[in-house]
Amino acid sequence: MGLSDGTVVGATKIVDHGSDSARWNVVLVAEGYKSSELPQFHTDAQNFVNTLFATAPYDTLQGAINVHRLDVSSTDSGADNPVSCGGSGNVATYFDAQFTASICRLLTVNDTNVINAVTANVPAWNVILVLVNTTVYGGSGGAVATFSMAPSAMEIGLHELGHTAFGLADEYEYWAGCGESGHDNHPAVEPSQPNVTIDDNRMTIKWGTLISSITPMPTTANADCTQCDPQADPLPPGTVGAFEGAHYYHCAAYRPQYLCRMRALNNPYCAVCRRRIVETLTPFLPPKTIFKEIKDAKAEKMEKFEKLEWKEFKEVKLELKELEKVIVEIPKLKDAEGDPWLDPGIYERLARIEASVERLAHFITQEERPNVARGALAGEPKAAANRAAPTKPGSSRKR
Ligand SMILES: [Zn+2]
Repeated sequence: MGLSDGTVVGATKIVDHGSDSARWNVVLVAEGYKSSELPQFHTDAQNFVNTLFATAPYDTLQGAINVHRLDVSSTDSGADNPVSCGGSGNVATYFDAQFTASICRLLTVNDTNVINAVTANVPAWNVILVLVNTTVYGGSGGAVATFSMAPSAMEIGLHELGHTAFGLADEYEYWAGCGESGHDNHPAVEPSQPNVTIDDNRMTIKWGTLISSITPMPTTANADCTQCDPQADPLPPGTVGAFEGAHYYHCAAYRPQYLCRMRALNNPYCAVCRRRIVETLTPFLPPKTIFKEIKDAKAEKMEKFEKLEWKEFKEVKLELKELEKVIVEIPKLKDAEGDPWLDPGIYERLARIEASVERLAHFITQEERPNVARGALAGEPKAAANRAAPTKPGSSRKR
């Protein structure tokens, strides 16, 4: 039930993008893993890293992030799980992980003990995620984030990271369940978090710059405040507006998009959440390195594509032109004082171009020009065969 129930083995830096003093340091901590199960923790931690770096907007911010793993062994496996939640009671684990009897999905640990252990091993930590070795669904995002190794573990981790690292609110519109009482109308107090609001006025709402002038406001209204709003998304997916039902209340609170990872797992972060993440992590990007990397990698790619001289090249030519423009623009954004120079908008544009170039590379390699591609793209394993099959329309064309 505590510090006598295991041992802190030590920390390992598993993603090294530079000095800890200059990067945003994520620490993944083992809880409820017996000594013999630590190799499983290493796999679980690596899975989380892989998921993180494949998820927007972290995918384009990788250079800002270091990841450390803190191996901690416990006497027993798992977490305390009350019998009322269907569990079998208490186990002996180092950080005393436990599911909460009143809300079974709420998984907490002894935050102070976690923070002390991490501070002793990775003093420059920025955010701590505790991986709890149980397949029972649960997580929480407070001073430290926790998530269990349930089937949807990695998604829970990304959601809790949203709370702990970026101060994002839950966008879902219930507390214990949709039919509950006491959660009809949100109190008339503006929440501090960036992704929920009681304000449905497009002139004053905090994410107003992301709302198109043709989007109705509020975008949806809940006709029955005693329940969650059952209506389907009336607008194209991804539309930003003010959707009623958020922050644990059926009415009088709004979320920015119909869906978001902070509302329900297995959805992308909404535009407001992405913006917050980009703003937070951009200052940790290595300016010179990242600029040089982008410039070198893209220049090399463009040169190779130029040589291909194939019909579809024309289709990406505009995107490559846009890329050249971005490369010219980036250095100009840096002012004489060295103030933040990397406009998040530039990063989104780069990400779009990167995706197009990679889809094209994959297309060339897999379907179109196998011989040319092998030569032209040699040394670019990332861009070609190792990528998952493309799913966007333009890349699955057959000739
Ligand atoms: Zn949440």
